Amino acid sequence: MTSDYALEIRGVRVTYGGIVALDVDEMAIPRGQIVGIVGANGAGKTTLLDVISGFTVADQGSVLLDGEKELRKTAPSSRAKRGISRSFQGAELFPSMTVAETVRTGLHHRLGTASVFGAALGAPWTRRRERAILREADALIELMGLLTFYDKLIGELSTGTRRIVDLTCALAQQPRVLLLDEPGSGVAQSEIDALRKLILQIRDTVGCTLVVVEHDIPLLRSISDLMFALDAGRVIARGSADEVLSDPAVIAAYLGTDQTAIARSGGRGTAEAPA
Ligand code: ATP
Repeated sequence: MTSDYALEIRGVRVTYGGIVALDVDEMAIPRGQIVGIVGANGAGKTTLLDVISGFTVADQGSVLLDGEKELRKTAPSSRAKRGISRSFQGAELFPSMTVAETVRTGLHHRLGTASVFGAALGAPWTRRRERAILREADALIELMGLLTFYDKLIGELSTGTRRIVDLTCALAQQPRVLLLDEPGSGVAQSEIDALRKLILQIRDTVGCTLVVVEHDIPLLRSISDLMFALDAGRVIARGSADEVLSDPAVIAAYLGTDQTAIARSGGRGTAEAPA
């Protein structure tokens, strides 16, 4: 690999009619790090993830993977094959499947489903693939701390545990870049700590690069190696979480002047201690 960056976004602009949803001059995402994205509603965070995953094609600009592969016009399925995986807050999980079945289905996406003839004949290559899927699913379920939920139905799980199953399915694709859109949304505060540890564990054990959009600022602050703030589609601050969250432009555009919100974000110069 020629670049230290998993992704480089340059001169990317997305417009809807007269609305500029994204207008990024330069955003470099270092390989193997967790990169947090903050911004007010409508700032362009989801559009940024869409441009990276290919669900939206930018009007102009360049999205480079590993410093060499231009992705801007590449279909989402080709990007997925190149290792860009996206978690959708569990929306696509079936409530009537168990955790183990769900993770195995995620693995089938990557390893392919057996042909009807091969399965009907009980062909050895089909049985080998099924055994490999079972082994890998069990290993992933253990890695993500889901063993106690192995035979539980998705519909019986808390939002936090469903989110972890969703993350596990994303990991089953062996991503090089994992895009998380508000992983903490709807998750009970008591489960946020487990989620935080898992996201860090994914970076440390799987070694993939994570881009995380999140409104739970204490969560994002505690996991981000690097943070970008967006406002009206533009990058208005970049740096460590402390630097970005205490930047006057970010406070004005996102955190507001509410001292409690700023303190919870860990911003400096406030009366309250950081969360
Ligand atoms: P939120 O935190 O509410 O999810 P966001 O930062 O993810 O917001 P985006 O969803 O990326 O913001 O939206 C950026 C801007 O682009 C907004 O003004 C939004 O209304 C507009 N926008 C996004 N998608 C479309 C679309 N498909 N058609 C028209 N406008 C859109």
